[in-house]
Amino acid sequence: MHYLDHNATSPLRPESLSAMTHALGVGGNPSSIHATGRAARALMEEAREKVARLAGAKPDQLVFTSGATEANNLALFGAVEGALAEGQTRITRIFVSAIEHASVLATADRLAERFPWVRVERLAVTADGVLDLEGLRVAMREGKGRALVAVMAANNETGVIQPLAEISKLVREANALLLVDAVPAAGKLGLDFGLCDYMVLSAHKIGGPQGSGVLVVREAVPLQPQLVGGGQQKGLRAGCENLAGIAGFGAAAHALADGQGERARIAHLRDHFEAALKQAIPETVIFGVTQERLCSTSCFAIPGVAAETALIGLDLDGVRMSSGSTCSSGKVAVSHVLAAMGVENALAAGGLRASFGWSSTMEDVSAAVASLVKLRERAPKRPRPAKDQSEAA
Ligand code: PMP
Repeated sequence: MHYLDHNATSPLRPESLSAMTHALGVGGNPSSIHATGRAARALMEEAREKVARLAGAKPDQLVFTSGATEANNLALFGAVEGALAEGQTRITRIFVSAIEHASVLATADRLAERFPWVRVERLAVTADGVLDLEGLRVAMREGKGRALVAVMAANNETGVIQPLAEISKLVREANALLLVDAVPAAGKLGLDFGLCDYMVLSAHKIGGPQGSGVLVVREAVPLQPQLVGGGQQKGLRAGCENLAGIAGFGAAAHALADGQGERARIAHLRDHFEAALKQAIPETVIFGVTQERLCSTSCFAIPGVAAETALIGLDLDGVRMSSGSTCSSGKVAVSHVLAAMGVENALAAGGLRASFGWSSTMEDVSAAVASLVKLRERAPKRPRPAKDQSEAA
């Protein structure tokens, strides 16, 4: 089996598995005062420090959640409702990049439905998948009330890294708030929470368990809890903490702490994959290739090869990948990320993503390329080579 879908979920690292097994064995509620509770809390605090280091944040800025979806919901709803509840300037405008994950896009839309004074607008990206800074500059100029901007650190489909330092500067100058979904970037890119007001991470994208994530939140920014009850996590997210999930998250973050070696190895695999693919199938289009990308991600299309056909063929050869398109009610919808980059529909319908991680090997790369070559040979007819964005690289 050749698993090249780390951006969907990265297999559990052995370090995480053993930290989780240990945490489950400790038992105890981190809020209990007795020795077993204190042992549970010590494990949680140890993990907190490790995750904080990964985010470039302070441990007490972390709120553990059930994953990045909950963390994005908490940040967006929490900010808008918190500003109201705390008597701060109302958040009236939410600007989301057009390439955000659905957990940001759908939450922002829900907010606009719930609060009539909140306007949601999508910020355009360039043909290379980078936020259009001019668009952000214009967006920051206008409007009453406070704005909130959501831009991911790097995109999960293309791997394209976003210019966070410039974005943060523009947002700060406008006294707006910045939410950064750092899910795909974590461990692949140095993160600096100092640039953000809210940052979101997910354990299962770095070799930790599913169902474990974190919202990092700066002091003094609005945050209304969405789960109320026992007052855990300073009242910001009630409910007994998922100790094993948090311990597994911490262990994965720690395994990445000195990630230079791992990153270089993953970059080598990804680069080799793309070079071999272009050599075997020169008409392959690699999206975002002219930009700085995460070492882990390759988003490409082979003109004439549909993504669904390719995924089945790859799977039969034991190669696990994702498509850039999503299937709902029997219809294939083109990836909103490729659409936002202006990729024409026919090409975007062939969008595939190979994503590499800690367990990837050169054998995975060779198997994937061989399988794609077979698929290309079986494709009905050879179309004229498409304009190739990768030529400029
Ligand atoms: N943001 C991004 C960029 C993601 O890729 C994902 C997972 N696909 C999420 C948020 C949601 O993460 P989780 O599965 O932890 O809810």
